[in-house]
Amino acid sequence: MNKGLTDAEVKMRQEKYGLNELYKKNKHSIFKKLLEVITEPMFILLILAATIYFILGEARDGAIMLIFVFGMISIETVQEWKTDKTLKALKDLSSPKIKVIRNGIETEIDSLYLVPDDIMIIYEGVKIPADGIILDTLGLCIDESSLTGESEGKWKKVFTDEEDEYFKTYCCYAGTICTQGKAYVKVTNIGLNTEYGKIAHAVLNEKPQKTLLEKQTSKLVKICVALAIVLFLTVGILTFIISKGTIKDRFIEGILSGITLAMAMIPEEFPVILTIFLSMGAWRLAKKNSLVKKLPAVETLGAVSVLCVDKTGTITENKMEVSEVSFKLNSIPNETEKKEIAKIALMASIKDSFDSMEIAIANYSSNLNINLEDKIVYSFPFTNETKMMGNVYQMDGKYILAVKGACESIIELCPSLSLNDKENIERLIKEYSLKGLRVLALAKEESNEIIDTLENRKMEFVGLISFIDPEREGIKENILKCYNAGIRVIMITGDNGYTAGAIAKKIGIKNYDNCITGSELNDMTDEELKLKLKATNIFSRVIPEHKMRIVKCLQELGEVVAMTGDGVNDAPALKKADIGIAMGKHGSDVAREAADLVLLDDNFNTIVNTIEDGRRIYDNIKKAIGYVFSIHIPIALASLIAPMLNITSEFLFLLPLHVVLLELLIDPTCSIVLERQPAEPDIMKRKPRKITDPLIKKDLLIKCIIQGLILFAISFGSYYYYYQISDVYTARSFGLTILFLGNLFLVNVNSSNKDFAITSFKKLIKDKVMWITNILTIACLIIILYTPLNNILKLDPLTPIEFIAAIILSIISVFWIELYKLAKKLLLKKRND
Ligand code: ATP
Repeated sequence: MNKGLTDAEVKMRQEKYGLNELYKKNKHSIFKKLLEVITEPMFILLILAATIYFILGEARDGAIMLIFVFGMISIETVQEWKTDKTLKALKDLSSPKIKVIRNGIETEIDSLYLVPDDIMIIYEGVKIPADGIILDTLGLCIDESSLTGESEGKWKKVFTDEEDEYFKTYCCYAGTICTQGKAYVKVTNIGLNTEYGKIAHAVLNEKPQKTLLEKQTSKLVKICVALAIVLFLTVGILTFIISKGTIKDRFIEGILSGITLAMAMIPEEFPVILTIFLSMGAWRLAKKNSLVKKLPAVETLGAVSVLCVDKTGTITENKMEVSEVSFKLNSIPNETEKKEIAKIALMASIKDSFDSMEIAIANYSSNLNINLEDKIVYSFPFTNETKMMGNVYQMDGKYILAVKGACESIIELCPSLSLNDKENIERLIKEYSLKGLRVLALAKEESNEIIDTLENRKMEFVGLISFIDPEREGIKENILKCYNAGIRVIMITGDNGYTAGAIAKKIGIKNYDNCITGSELNDMTDEELKLKLKATNIFSRVIPEHKMRIVKCLQELGEVVAMTGDGVNDAPALKKADIGIAMGKHGSDVAREAADLVLLDDNFNTIVNTIEDGRRIYDNIKKAIGYVFSIHIPIALASLIAPMLNITSEFLFLLPLHVVLLELLIDPTCSIVLERQPAEPDIMKRKPRKITDPLIKKDLLIKCIIQGLILFAISFGSYYYYYQISDVYTARSFGLTILFLGNLFLVNVNSSNKDFAITSFKKLIKDKVMWITNILTIACLIIILYTPLNNILKLDPLTPIEFIAAIILSIISVFWIELYKLAKKLLLKKRND
């Protein structure tokens, strides 16, 4: 056996040939990133304001402005860097793997590190990552449609003769899929040198489509920017008209006021919130065994209304054990008969298989001291269509065929069974299945000639073997959780209807006795299926292709569908579903590639937790957008109202410097504190959100506007009052302190729609990051008020009494909503009573 490359040889080749990738990822240079940030409208405004200060000869103000610009750029760059890092880590986790032989042992590596001359092991479901020549193979069939367009699988063999065809039968090619068999393949070309690499440019340059959420936020940003432009002009012109001095002074004053307002109006945080919340959300999910491959999936998760799941491995543990057996029609077989059943079942299995049912057969046989030494001379692999498999052995000069599979398929191979026998067998099958057992039938045939087809066989029925596969722990509770959350659960299985129904009943799936079989599905039109789908939650004896129809019809009924799958043939349905979920443990590469989400533990409970998290993330995005909206209102209104009250730029409540200072605060607080908010208590008791629902609904909008207006009225009112009786520096300090603290409290009260602020606070009480953010905000306020910085920022220190008064006012301006929450709770309680 070929020992493969050694580590030293791999290293040498890696240096020579590089990585097995189709395109070099453009690493964003820091310069390019900086340029991107600086060309954002917010920064253009900031730099414009700084320039004006310099022109006015107020170099100090200009310099401070530039320091703030630097601060904001640093925050943005750090945030982007962190998001990039998270996304890269996620990508690495989901990068394709391949089994290779290196240093004489079989290991799994990232396909990225494959080098020429590596020996890769290809088997069913693997997407081939490089071109190579076949060294050894057993019944290898490859789907080369991605290269040749031919949908029919191509049978492969080891090299015997040179061939004229461009794509050789003794070679495997990158991007193609193994649909059957196994092979050892020596890599010849990697990356762009592969046949796929040569034609892949077009595919790679595809631009990702914008998601609904992205579209909604960019629409919101556009509206705000348009408003900002209109108000910039209005305020600018108004200030120009009311201010005194030379035309030049008035012009500059107009521009400065306009800029302040425009800066307050541009919600540049919106897109940042989206990227950070989604990527951090995906990162948190990955730690809980759920790998998000496409970021927008996080947002769709919260809208899922139907969950279509496989039975084996997802609902059940996929840890099988032989339970009851029957020999021919005898359900209480003796020891010799049991041995015969075990022997035929073992003969019809793959040697050293990973399939849990075959492992159970091997264990059962070894307990009965059955071992096989004879050689397989022909195999009939398992297919979803026939639902059976078998092997032909040569024993004592004879050929023996042993077959196991779905009972219907096996009975067809045994024409000697009488009608009465068949009825008795079916009765036994039903008896086992109703206990939730998975039942296989066994048959054998002896022949003097080699057997190479299953057609027209005259096999002897050997018996039934049934397996117990326990349901996953906690599944019943999670199914109930789905129902409470308005999510339907549909079980789609290759197993028979009785077994599926019995398991569905055990775990609490509704309408468990209403089942549609694959063949019934074949006879239905889409319209009939849609009608049935309204009340059917079990599909049995289906093949993967049926899943596609089920998804399509459910979607046409207006549902948002999440669908699990693991095989190569599941890929189209996974792609079609709104959320395609592939199995990480047992799934094929192809399914993983087509999916939006990979379940690392194949567990139904993880899917439910992921949906719950998806809802939480979406909730938090909404909370953050609402908060940003609210806090921008007092900032914008303060600049808007100034010309109306005849306040010239020097005496403004918020100078551009203060707006930037507040902006510096808003971004990190919301992306840090709100991103971490735990789920609302009723998160899995609500109906799924409609996918077309606007991000900010009317009630949220009204709440945000009222919150913003009250904060504005109190902060600006206090400033204006002080401005009349005292100097502008103190007035500004007073108003700004209310805004600073109000901002802090606003994050807190908006942390939950239902819980009181104190409850939300308690939930994160052990969270260091939350504490750091809050303490930093307060420290920042104290520094700007009580250090020499105050003079530069045109502020005066507040007396202790004034400071306490500002705290009280900020509490009033924000915490009124708690009374509203209380009133709502009392009302609900009264209604429930
Ligand atoms: P699910 O689709 O929920 O995972 P499943 O695992 O029962 O359910 P399949 O793997 O498609 O679905 O199997 C369908 C049927 O084919 C089984 O019920 C069984 O009768 C038969 N079958 C499955 N695996 C084997 C096997 N290794 N040998 C023989 N028959 C098999």
